[in-house]
Amino acid sequence: METINKNEEYVKEEITRSMQHLSDKRVQHAIKVQSYIRSYVTDFLREAGYIEIAPIIISPLTDPLNHPVYDPKIHAYGGDMWITQSMIFHKQIAVQELKKIFIMSPNVRLETEEKSKSGRHLYEFTQIDVEALEKSREEMMSLAEDMIIYTISRLKKEHKEELEYFHRTLPDYAKPFPVITFEEAEKKYGKGFETPLSKESSTPVWVVDIPLKEREFYDREYPEKPGILRDMDLIWPEGFEEASSGGEREYELSQILDRIQKKGQTEEQFKWFIELAKQGIKYTAGFGIGIERFTRFVCGVEKIEDVTTFPKVPGRISL
Ligand code: ASP
Ligand code: MG
Repeated sequence: METINKNEEYVKEEITRSMQHLSDKRVQHAIKVQSYIRSYVTDFLREAGYIEIAPIIISPLTDPLNHPVYDPKIHAYGGDMWITQSMIFHKQIAVQELKKIFIMSPNVRLETEEKSKSGRHLYEFTQIDVEALEKSREEMMSLAEDMIIYTISRLKKEHKEELEYFHRTLPDYAKPFPVITFEEAEKKYGKGFETPLSKESSTPVWVVDIPLKEREFYDREYPEKPGILRDMDLIWPEGFEEASSGGEREYELSQILDRIQKKGQTEEQFKWFIELAKQGIKYTAGFGIGIERFTRFVCGVEKIEDVTTFPKVPGRISL
């Protein structure tokens, strides 16, 4: 049974580690901050007319992601389903009728072991996942900016003592956040531009117009700039790196089929989505912001596990 549940010694160590983690005062404070962030972002989105829908945990359709992970596939009822890697397609479908939605969405991404050193990867995390019908990338960027500014300003007003605990003085960020294209960022900082860009910034910064090969097939390609997408990443300042990704979405059948093919993926994998596109969907846009990364940035702590109750660090089976 060792391969399934690890041995007794491992279990004992892990339980001890979990209990020590939970009794760490720094962790307790960070979890409190996370709880306030959850409350403020949801207050903000509801106030802006967004409806919270329940998370999806399992489905025959999930985000293919653009990087390798272990496959969270489950076989049941004579078919295959996957644990949610992101609710990207469910968001696109739900807004067809509900218009503006958000989900506090638990995602499982079984990242490979080397990601354990990044300080910002967990194989189970939650994202604030937002989508709206017939909105542009720029409108969604503006919403994300308002949401972040609102959340940080309430934290500063209502929970100054928690920020003081972490010796954290956060500025009042101004809207709009600076914008740089992927091409400009690569020219200025080279291939791994995210780290230097984040370190040099004193405010959250957008990276836009990401090339097709860097992203999943669902972010919309510019009709007039083939190979470049109408999408965006948000980078936290001070070296905290990626906060969010999002964009406008592909919605026309011919374009969806073309993009799946360009990615070297199969129509079989996305047949549920293709069927939907055949029946016709309208365009949407949205973004997802990792709640643990948001908390890590606000608290200014190095390791994402220190803001998480039951951290799942890649490579370890943990409670
Ligand atoms: N939920 C998406 C993701 O995880 C983000 C987005 O594009 O809305 O990549
Ligand atoms: Mg994505």
